[in-house]
Amino acid sequence: MSDTLQYPFLDLGAANAPQLPQIEQAALRVLRSGYYIGGPETAHFERELAAYAGTEHAVGTGNGLDALRLIFRACIELGRMCPGDEVIVPSNTYIATILAVTDCGLVPVPVEPRLDTLNMDTSLIEQALTPRTRAILTVHLYGRVCYDAEMQALADRHRLMIVEDNAQAIGARYADGRRTGALGRAAAFSFYPTKNLGAMGDAGAVTTDDADLAQAVRALGNYGSLRKYHNIYMGLNSRLDPLQAAILSAKLPGLEAENAHRAALAAVYERHISSPYIVKPLYSDSGDMVWHQYVLLTDRRDRLRSFLTEHGVGTDIHYPVAPHRQPCMADRVHGPLPLAERVAAEVLSIPISSATSVSDARAIAEIINSFPG
Ligand SMILES: *Cc1c(COP(=O)(O)O)cnc(C)c1O
Repeated sequence: MSDTLQYPFLDLGAANAPQLPQIEQAALRVLRSGYYIGGPETAHFERELAAYAGTEHAVGTGNGLDALRLIFRACIELGRMCPGDEVIVPSNTYIATILAVTDCGLVPVPVEPRLDTLNMDTSLIEQALTPRTRAILTVHLYGRVCYDAEMQALADRHRLMIVEDNAQAIGARYADGRRTGALGRAAAFSFYPTKNLGAMGDAGAVTTDDADLAQAVRALGNYGSLRKYHNIYMGLNSRLDPLQAAILSAKLPGLEAENAHRAALAAVYERHISSPYIVKPLYSDSGDMVWHQYVLLTDRRDRLRSFLTEHGVGTDIHYPVAPHRQPCMADRVHGPLPLAERVAAEVLSIPISSATSVSDARAIAEIINSFPG
């Protein structure tokens, strides 16, 4: 269907096209190198990522979910958390956030979103705390920073660890200039192909200033071993592939331009969308939002979506079912969570990537404004 749309939601081939020569060169270099697991390309990208995020350490992982799982597994191995401990999570997020917690035997405690940012309402965290709360897993959803001085003060007061799910917000900055990935004790990145920095396959990473945590994450993702045939943890296999690492190194210099382009599209949408049936996302041009998605809210979502498809505009829904309403989560995440459910019923994402031009965005805004309701 999206192949025939004039304004596809996301054409990854087109989005990667401008950087294809560098990407192909990087891939060939790895194919010819003789290093297919680990090696210099992976180490090089890890150093670049740490420098970019502003952390001491970066450890490549197989994907973003594993990056999160490995952070929590490492905390358990280091004796900082125990199975059964509670982790504050947003009720409005991608399900991977929650799966990372439950997979480690930890208990996700959902906190509802603010309807303007769609991020976790940090003023509701305190009332969700119990004596077993150990961490706040904050998600910078859709590319918007979800962290502030009050969250940090609360975490300090209650000795909670802040972990960032930074899958969607690479490059965003908190008000003090620090980038996401450097705000909490540790952060998980995803380089899933659709993310603002996307690989050409699965890839992820953990950033942290905590040397013990970095080392435990590295060991756990490598069969629990730092030294060959010497296994200190019951590990798994989740490493950053050098082919993906080399591609990511080739694409990293383009990330600022990618995020700037997304910001330019968001500015067009902010200026030109004026439908009375639609609430636009809270606008920010201060760098604390890298516009991973541009998410509209409307109580007539399904009708708007069909209308846009008919008029050649591809859309997506992030996400149509709140995590606690997924069949696998029955009895694991407790509702009622009416705001998460309302968000799931009303969100609609419109094109925002380097494959969409500024003039496309103007045309898309006009089509949205012609929606009859
Ligand atoms: C993409 C994503 C993940 C998972 O990343 P993968 O690399 O796909 O495993 C986790 N959390 C959020 C918020 C995401 O958007």
